[in-house]
Amino acid sequence: MSQGTRTRPAAFTGPLLYGGDHNPEQWDAATLAEDLRLLRGAHVNTLTLNVFSWSLLQRDEDTYDFSGLDRIIEQVSAAGMSIDLATSTGAVPPWLARAHPEICRVDVQGRRHLHGVRENACLSSPIYQELAPRLAGTLAARYAGLENLVLWHVSNEYWGRCYCDLCAGSFRGWLLSRYGSLDAINEAWTADFWGHRYHDLAEINPPSEISDLQEGSGVVALPGLGLDHRRFSSDLARDAFRAEKAAIRAHDPHTPVMTNLMMPFQDYDYASWAPDLDVITWDSYPRRDDPPSHTGMHHDLMRGLKGGDPFLLLEQTPSRQDITHAAKRPGQMRAQSWQAVAHGADGVMFFQMRQSAGGGEQFHGAVIGPQGDGRVEDTRVHRAVTELGAELARIGERIRGSRVQADVALLWDWEAWWAWDGICGKNPHADYLDEARHWHAELVRRGIGVDVLSPSAALDGYSLVIAPMLFLTRDEDADGIARAVRGGTRLVLTALSGVLDREGRVRQGPAPVPFRELVGVWDEEMYNLDPADRLPLVFPADGDPAPGAAAADVDPLAAGSASGDAPRGRWTAQYLRPDADTEVLARFGTGPDAEYVPGEPAVTRHPYGAGQALYVGTLPDDAALARILERALDGLGIEQHELPGGAETTLRIAADGTRFRFYLNGTREARTVPLVAPGTELLTGERADGRAGSGEQTAAAAGTGASIDLEPYGVRIVEEDTASL
Ligand SMILES: [Zn+2]
Repeated sequence: MSQGTRTRPAAFTGPLLYGGDHNPEQWDAATLAEDLRLLRGAHVNTLTLNVFSWSLLQRDEDTYDFSGLDRIIEQVSAAGMSIDLATSTGAVPPWLARAHPEICRVDVQGRRHLHGVRENACLSSPIYQELAPRLAGTLAARYAGLENLVLWHVSNEYWGRCYCDLCAGSFRGWLLSRYGSLDAINEAWTADFWGHRYHDLAEINPPSEISDLQEGSGVVALPGLGLDHRRFSSDLARDAFRAEKAAIRAHDPHTPVMTNLMMPFQDYDYASWAPDLDVITWDSYPRRDDPPSHTGMHHDLMRGLKGGDPFLLLEQTPSRQDITHAAKRPGQMRAQSWQAVAHGADGVMFFQMRQSAGGGEQFHGAVIGPQGDGRVEDTRVHRAVTELGAELARIGERIRGSRVQADVALLWDWEAWWAWDGICGKNPHADYLDEARHWHAELVRRGIGVDVLSPSAALDGYSLVIAPMLFLTRDEDADGIARAVRGGTRLVLTALSGVLDREGRVRQGPAPVPFRELVGVWDEEMYNLDPADRLPLVFPADGDPAPGAAAADVDPLAAGSASGDAPRGRWTAQYLRPDADTEVLARFGTGPDAEYVPGEPAVTRHPYGAGQALYVGTLPDDAALARILERALDGLGIEQHELPGGAETTLRIAADGTRFRFYLNGTREARTVPLVAPGTELLTGERADGRAGSGEQTAAAAGTGASIDLEPYGVRIVEEDTASL
């Protein structure tokens, strides 16, 4: 469980971090002075500095100049701001690219790039491996003693892959250390397919569009090669982070070191990065009308990377992302900021503090716009940032350090995502990320807290674990899942799980091979469905329905789901053959769309040790998913509070047991949500107890029999009464 008293990064004391990226190097000292005045007025307490200054700090391999950064740090420190100091290695200087062209990346089409953009370094190049950590170490030697330094920020949003000869060489070395021999590589990749048997390590190429990667599809001729290249690229970037962190640690043993992550982001396996990151920080840029539960899931995933430790929302836009994205609606930024805190953030930061006059992000939203002449404080964005800052300053410190409480674990695995996207012969409409979001959204709708975790995480102690589409499953993870179920956890496993082994090979034996005993079903055959196909699912009111029975004959409630539609499966149908002790919870119906598996089991339940495993032989639509979850939750005693669309509740519990319940409305329409427990609403200081006349609550059927009215993008944070525990 995520609740606990884990040690937190030492630097995080006092108020929640509030602020964001600032680029004073683009402006003069007088402008910075004015910015600091404006930002302090907005309750900003932390600035991210020096993100892209390498070329300013170093003009050749041996000449550094920190005078400009000294001035900025001095001014910012004098203003009482904390500093998140970046190492600037996310963009190599033009002089370095000219002197060492090999530091520029080769793209997936085999083209060597010239200097440009950012995250532009070949991380295998010896000159990068020398100069980037040296710069980080030089910065640390100079600034480690700063009292207001709260974070080291390595590079920025690590991104992408390189296909140069140096990287190919690194890849071959990585392969040899992983497999031990060329024979083992040939076997792992089934290299005899299309005549790929390798007789010399040097024959192996990274899968680019001029080798094994099918152009534009992401599909690699040898899936194992594709998987390993993704693993290698993730490790290579993580090693670049590690090298800079080590250089910092030589001078600064304590300040937390991190790099900012992104989501959805497929390039790297952040679960394998997490142990090296002292704190998880991430940048959230949802589109205006994305369902709020998507962002909520990303927060839950980020929090899960370090076992539930509080994380930092390091970037979000205060208004618009850039000129092509719609601006956030009034109130939406505040709601999204509190949503991050509700899901475990101990800091709310923005990109960016002052809007750049030039450059590719010159129209990206900013706290300080180009209005000038004392008009900035009169702008909507600055007012909104100031109002949020005042709220965070008032109550943030009470909440800081508390931990999100979740009863359900949703499994998420980058390798399973890579594996699904990297194969041919799949149904291209089924999407790994969508499936996870789908389950998460239904849990949110029921007011249930979710930890999004790696299948390698400790799962014991969760009442319910949901594993959607765990396409690639490592043996030890299957064992860990089975162990948790044996100990009493309930599992929901869907179709397309356990199909591939670690190397990306189809597992041999009765499917789902690594879960065969656990789920008590032989998954004999997988049928890809056409996009328009929807297979009806029949959930009996009780007992085992007769094969071929139609939904209406068996369970009139089958149509009574959240969406009001009959439950259906999509994208894939499995032909399931249950063991004798496996109960059938639902069958595929009949009809023109059900010709593959008419009347056959669709959802099963198998007792296993002290727990149960539900297996879903399709990918359920909203209505089917709601029905399956209802069965999965039955008897577990998990608190549920049905919520209207776009609303959510979360619970953070402090070390002393104080409970902070967040009620959020992520939509532009009013919502009414059940009040779970009475207490004091922290933003208004008013009582939240559902008593008539409070002006906040009206009677409703729920835990307290009361409810809370939330205005569009409304937020309430109730510190629950001790007596209500
Ligand atoms: Zn390279």
